[in-house]
Amino acid sequence: MFFTYLNLGIRNQIRILISKTRYLTCNLLSVTNNLFYLHIFDIEDRRMFLSQYFLPTLKDTPAEASIISHQLMLRAGMIRPLASGIYSWLPLGLKVLKRIEAIVRQEMDDAHGQEVIMPCIQPASLWKQSGRFGDGSDLSTETLVMKDRHDCELLFSPTAEEVICDIFKNNVQSYRDLPKNLYQIQWKFRDEIRPRYGVMRGREFLMKDAYSFDMDEESSIQSYENMLIAYLNAFNRMGLQPIPVRANTGSIGGDYSHEIHVLAETGESVIYYERGLLEALEDEAFDMDDLENFYAMEEEKHNATEQLIPAEELCVSKGIEVGHLFYLGTKYSSAMSVKVQNKNGELIHPHMGCYGIGISRLVGAIIEANHDDSGIIWPIEVAPFHCIILNLNVGNEDCDAVAVSIYSELSDIGLDILYDDTADTVGAKFARADLIGIPFQIVVGTKNVGKGLVEIKFREDGEMRALSKEDAMNSILEVLLVKE
Ligand code: ATP
Ligand code: MG
Repeated sequence: MFFTYLNLGIRNQIRILISKTRYLTCNLLSVTNNLFYLHIFDIEDRRMFLSQYFLPTLKDTPAEASIISHQLMLRAGMIRPLASGIYSWLPLGLKVLKRIEAIVRQEMDDAHGQEVIMPCIQPASLWKQSGRFGDGSDLSTETLVMKDRHDCELLFSPTAEEVICDIFKNNVQSYRDLPKNLYQIQWKFRDEIRPRYGVMRGREFLMKDAYSFDMDEESSIQSYENMLIAYLNAFNRMGLQPIPVRANTGSIGGDYSHEIHVLAETGESVIYYERGLLEALEDEAFDMDDLENFYAMEEEKHNATEQLIPAEELCVSKGIEVGHLFYLGTKYSSAMSVKVQNKNGELIHPHMGCYGIGISRLVGAIIEANHDDSGIIWPIEVAPFHCIILNLNVGNEDCDAVAVSIYSELSDIGLDILYDDTADTVGAKFARADLIGIPFQIVVGTKNVGKGLVEIKFREDGEMRALSKEDAMNSILEVLLVKE
């Protein structure tokens, strides 16, 4: 099929207006005999007039924030702290979180993952079976434990291997049901010793966690590879440069593991990788065999004494861990007594993998990689809005008419537009627009409107051009229009 679509962050997504203020968001499934088959999955409110929008921006940098992404998320009114490592997500922040979630969901679905939701609150008894509960266990200090009125011990899920095993054990009996990959996007709680850097190391945070079940090691490693490729795709789409490195397995356990990092000075990890890896990653056919050809290690795995590659080929960088993959073997399936009948009628423990992505950490990581002195610069696919219209002379009939018409036309074709209709000063409007980082700004003011022009600014390079209204809108569409 050959068609053009608007790159709204999600492939094949279109929007249909059903009233002045609401639209349906649909997935375009197929087009047959001029009939469009759509899957409607969301109804959204598109009233985004800044005078009504909840956007509590801050002029000054809050003292509690030591890194730029944390400062900018607070200043741009995206999050607010409630307790140490625990945040509320305000409308602008939540929009970005949802965009990231949608990209991850789409890549997981494309890789044949099936979405589920498991409870945040889980019985401790289940965790006693795997040996990960109580004093001396790996997770004991980080797990939040509570009791219900019947004196039953419960915990807030820091991860979900035990629960997925419980589901699998009670519902899958035969090799015919494998392989399976089940995933969820769900809040986690870990009582981190040093919550810091805002959402980058929170105590409550949003994670995508996936679990694969296969009959043998070979097929399990294949599932692992599928996840690795899906992860690279997802992070690339978010405008990040992902770097996969071999990693230790820590408290999750297992035999084989990779972390995926994005480079940032404020990253808490140090990674060592061969220079050529970055170029190899650009190849669309990149796979695990290619990855194995390169030296790429997380700090604890790095061998500083033995020089395995020429020193000039070794890059050392700070990285933010945004994803982690584990091949678990039968560690959990045997501890939790998960058994499946193989072709010969024998009961075996399936081989598992588990795969995490830090959805809420990614919001911070993307800002660390995309900002300047004035504020955030959102990559288009995760931007909370595609365009902001700055009306510098609200109340002037001509300016109001031009601004509202641009707002309606761009909204009607499905773009997310924020209209700054506030009475704030010109300087305040510009500063706020730069701070919140929306990719395109259209500036409407009396001087230009009198000449039939508006100004368009690309947030990324700051370039500003005076164009007719139509040309300004077209120059945005040119960037968003993708051919497939
Ligand atoms: P870290 O080494 O950063 O503490 P981890 O190895 O303990 O992370 P995993 O168990 O691998 O974390 O969890 C999967 C993903 O969840 C991580 O790759 C990371 O992106 C994210 N994540 C883990 N802990 C946090 C946290 N405290 N705040 C935000 N995101 C987190
Ligand atoms: Mg990890």
